[in-house]
Amino acid sequence: MKILVLNSGSSSQKSALYEILGTLPEHPPTPAWQGKIEWDGDQADIQAQNSQGAQLEARLKVASRSNAIEQMLDTLWNGKVRAVSDPSEIDVVGHRIVHGGKEFEEATVITPQVKSAIARMAVFAPLHNRAELEGIELIEKRLGNLPQVAVFDTGFHSHLPEAAAVYPGPFEWLAQGIRRYGFHGINHQYCAGRAEQLLGRELNSLKLVTCHLGNGCSLAAIRHGRSTDTTMGFTPLDGLMMGTRSGSLDPGILTYLMREENSTGKHLDDLLNTKSGLLGISGISGDMRQIVASMKNGNPRAKLAFEMFVHHLQSGIGAMIAALGGMDALVFTAGIGENSPELRAAACANFRFLGLKLDSAKNVPYSVDQDISLPGSVVRVLIIRAQEDWAIARDCWRLVSVKSSERADAS
Ligand code: AMP
Repeated sequence: MKILVLNSGSSSQKSALYEILGTLPEHPPTPAWQGKIEWDGDQADIQAQNSQGAQLEARLKVASRSNAIEQMLDTLWNGKVRAVSDPSEIDVVGHRIVHGGKEFEEATVITPQVKSAIARMAVFAPLHNRAELEGIELIEKRLGNLPQVAVFDTGFHSHLPEAAAVYPGPFEWLAQGIRRYGFHGINHQYCAGRAEQLLGRELNSLKLVTCHLGNGCSLAAIRHGRSTDTTMGFTPLDGLMMGTRSGSLDPGILTYLMREENSTGKHLDDLLNTKSGLLGISGISGDMRQIVASMKNGNPRAKLAFEMFVHHLQSGIGAMIAALGGMDALVFTAGIGENSPELRAAACANFRFLGLKLDSAKNVPYSVDQDISLPGSVVRVLIIRAQEDWAIARDCWRLVSVKSSERADAS
């Protein structure tokens, strides 16, 4: 089965082609092809590579998002890096959909009704859901009537207990859809499955805290394989301090700025999403690599940014442990979680009282998914590489295989 995955971000678009022969492999295979577009105004960098590692790079002026995606997909069947000889070889296309609201818990085959629901949810995540719909429509136009699957970043959190999901504003907010949805669910769920494999224990028996620390950062408290609390909320702005996003702060600051400085919603949105977090505090960068390097060079604002990031992360982990009533394993994933030994050591330092013992010899730059705690540690500490595209491909495989076996049974 050849599965194409489209993963849209607000200023990037990633894509991968997986080829699955026979049964589903236990570990993520290397994609047969990967494409990436990064926008900078109306310019776009299009990169693509196949399993031989060949790389094609182009900096193009593109008319629209779908036009750029079309050019990226062209490299899959037409470029130097092509991985299929004809688009008709693709069996199914999976899409990461950021917001599925309360309606979608599981991956689902895209129908006109599902498309309308994704469009309805765009009021909550306008940049993401609209870009994702464009991707779905582009595939319909270019590849015709093949099955498309939506995998929702909110889905894993759709069973949060009400006490965790409802905001303590007016009760009427709930009917308006103002509640905690949570995001990064595809990766939090994937990490729970990998933790089960790495620990050799039933997921059902585990209390896990997963730390997705990348450009966006969120935690999930996972019990019996389900998300029972998470730090992102109504939007991906809630919770932890991030690269350029503030995370949670006193809402009184916003009403103060509106009252005293006539700040508009658009201005505040921009401030909190793009000029805050590590970047806002350090004045240097939203990238943890540069923060750590500047801190080591003695920059006091980089040091403050790092210490704040750790402080908010530790508070969040503490809250997740309380929601679970304990913690068997702490999982680090995504760009910062996988690659920053400094951050992992600092985050773990205040949890020694729980019997968490990090193995400093293993807490080095990431290579493979592994346990980096000492043998006597009561709490295991795991590094797990984020594999969102593979998690989406797996869901596509399961859904399409079930549908074809149902068809075979019926005939
Ligand atoms: P992601 O969103 O998962 O792709 O993560 C991207 C972020 O990971 C970057 O903005 C960096 O802050 C961070 N990152 C990547 N590599 C490293 C590294 N070696 N050390 C610290 N942070 C890193």
